[in-house]
Amino acid sequence: MRTILLWMARSRVLKAWLPRVWFVRRAVRKFMPGETTEAALDAAEGDRPHGIGILFTRLGENLTSLADAQAVADHYHDLLDKIRARGLDAEISVKPTQLGLDLDPAATLGHLLSLAAHAREAGGDLWLDMEGSAYTDATLDLYRRLKQTHPNVAICLQAYLRRTPADVHGLLPLKPGIRLVKGAYNEQARIAFRRKSEVDAAYQSLCVSMLSAAGKGKLRLALGTHDTRLIGRVADYSRSTGIAIDRFEIQMLYGIPRDEQLRLAREGYRVRDLIAYGEAWYPWYMRRLAERPANVFFALRQVIG
Ligand SMILES: Cc1cc2nc3c(=O)[nH]c(=O)nc-3n(C[C@H](O)[C@H](O)[C@H](O)COP(=O)(O)OP(=O)(O)OC[C@H]3O[C@@H](n4cnc5c(N)ncnc54)[C@H](O)[C@@H]3O)c2cc1C
Repeated sequence: MRTILLWMARSRVLKAWLPRVWFVRRAVRKFMPGETTEAALDAAEGDRPHGIGILFTRLGENLTSLADAQAVADHYHDLLDKIRARGLDAEISVKPTQLGLDLDPAATLGHLLSLAAHAREAGGDLWLDMEGSAYTDATLDLYRRLKQTHPNVAICLQAYLRRTPADVHGLLPLKPGIRLVKGAYNEQARIAFRRKSEVDAAYQSLCVSMLSAAGKGKLRLALGTHDTRLIGRVADYSRSTGIAIDRFEIQMLYGIPRDEQLRLAREGYRVRDLIAYGEAWYPWYMRRLAERPANVFFALRQVIG
């Protein structure tokens, strides 16, 4: 099921057709408050009273023109102004291919530099999402370049990649910000763990190896996962080594599992809600279904009533 859903995420024909189907549009609302900036900002207001921070991401990837990349950068600049005007505890997370990485890496770096400067004025970090393995080196390269002049940049790393412990080791001297996720793409066994038990073990071991730097303030560590049992194990280890649980943060996707986000915030964890929005949600939505095929039945229930 996972492989089929990830294939569907890449299919051009389905990408053109499925988002027009009404029940698919309705089902996507589980993960997305709406397609517009205003819908995303309004959803963020719901987190404010609970002390939950926000991470905004506008959906879209692999653009085909530099004018589109410029439009995405302009959009994020406008969003940063709106975040500031509302006084939200919110940051932005961007995909390098959405800013033209396939077309012109130098132009992408230019967009990222100006967004990092603007994000700093708005009081937050600029996060780089991590895409499929074809982009890992290029994304790390962009990150290192940004970090030379902008301390407020952070990057996502994927625990399923066999290379990630070495990438963490290479980044730690830079005092980085790292969001650790399990990984959402279909990667080959040669470069990635494929069994869930292996990915979970890799995730936990990476957390353990990063906690001491986080405890000393040398790393901004975010656990990008909904796996509350895994979060519990990391928290137990953290406490057992004298590192308070507020030395790292938890980042979860909007709508998954809301009650857990609230519980974690109440228990003293720092929580950030990733709110994705925009019109180009199809491949992203299919990857969310692939993570939990039970969501397919949720989508089908929309057809029945
Ligand atoms: C804030 C954030 C940012 C991310 N950024 C990236 C990125 O830049 N690059 C990248 O490759 N991946 C990214 N991901 C996705 C990530 O790689 C995983 O695919 C995704 O988080 C599912 O794995 P999990 O850690 O939640 O654990 P899993 O073991 O998959 O799930 C644990 C439990 O969480 C719940 N759950 C998980 N997913 C869903 C879902 N879709 N719907 C409903 N319940 C669910 C279920 O109860 C499940 O049992 C991001 C995830 C988060 C939370």
